[in-house]
Amino acid sequence: MTEISIVTPMYNEYETLDLYFERLIPILEGVTPSYEVICVDDGSTDGTIERLKTHHRRNPNIKIISLSRNFGKEAALTSGLDYASGRAVIPVDADLQDPPEILPQMIEKWREGAQVVLARRGDRSEDTAMKRFSAHWFYRLFARIAETTIPENVGDFRLLDRTVVNALGQLPERSRFMKGLFAWVGFRTVEVEYAREARAAGQTKFNYWKLWNFALDGLLSFSTLPLKIWSYFGFALSAFAAIYLIYLLVKTAVYGVDVPGYASIMSVVLFFNGIILVGMGVLGEYVARLFIEVKRRPLYLVNEVTGFPTSDIEPLRPSRLDSFDSNKIA
Ligand code: UDP
Ligand code: MG
Repeated sequence: MTEISIVTPMYNEYETLDLYFERLIPILEGVTPSYEVICVDDGSTDGTIERLKTHHRRNPNIKIISLSRNFGKEAALTSGLDYASGRAVIPVDADLQDPPEILPQMIEKWREGAQVVLARRGDRSEDTAMKRFSAHWFYRLFARIAETTIPENVGDFRLLDRTVVNALGQLPERSRFMKGLFAWVGFRTVEVEYAREARAAGQTKFNYWKLWNFALDGLLSFSTLPLKIWSYFGFALSAFAAIYLIYLLVKTAVYGVDVPGYASIMSVVLFFNGIILVGMGVLGEYVARLFIEVKRRPLYLVNEVTGFPTSDIEPLRPSRLDSFDSNKIA
């Protein structure tokens, strides 16, 4: 039985790979003889997979899941969690922004009885001002409207006990906003703090458009408020319109018909059409997400695995089951 599983999604991380293992492996070996590092190659095109295989030949504790294309970090992470066999599992980014040096501390807390150990970014000065600003507002908005509370400045870097990983495996949804799901499952949680470093090499895989969509996904999968708010808005507007109608009727009865009013009519028509379109757009966002859920496509497809015993490829958990049952895909 493996004690610690590290799960690392990798998308074109050829440049950081060597640095990553160089720093990670000695630290892990200092903590436990029984570990595995599961690297999920998320459709890389820069030779990441070949380089990973070289590392696997040198150290069989480094295992590889190669996805059939780029599925995104959330799906890559999910596949790694599905395959991890450790009694504790820790997602770690490949770019060394999650410093391996604090792993011993996290593992210590777990051995003392914690089921989740959050790594909080105490110092984010290495992140750009724009990223810190948008992250801050995202967390504030999320706290306001979502039913689940996610801790600010905590990423996917956290230790998860086997119980927690199994719980996550039970969640059937396709839309995997991992930070939200991690928080949703709960369990006994403690924290450690660290300073966020700069990316060791290579480039960030998230541009602002991707981040925006990621944030939208997070908000819409954990809150129905954007959907429900429109009925209140509509109600308030109808009430106002009713009063205005009475006023107009009375005015017409007293002063007669008043023809001019093109500008006011146009502005009202344009304004309310805009509002209606926004409401429909929000509705569309939810319907699109429903559509994705209903199709029940697998979260990811595995092309090949390296370093896992063949029995490990048997379907175990729902998310993994879907990925392997060809009847479901057909
Ligand atoms: N990643 C991935 N698939 C993607 C995008 C990113 O597996 O489609 C991985 C990436 O290789 C890295 C981690 O997710 O290990 C975090 O990505 P990155 O460092 O680019 O994000 P940032 O830290 O800038 O938010
Ligand atoms: Mg990074």
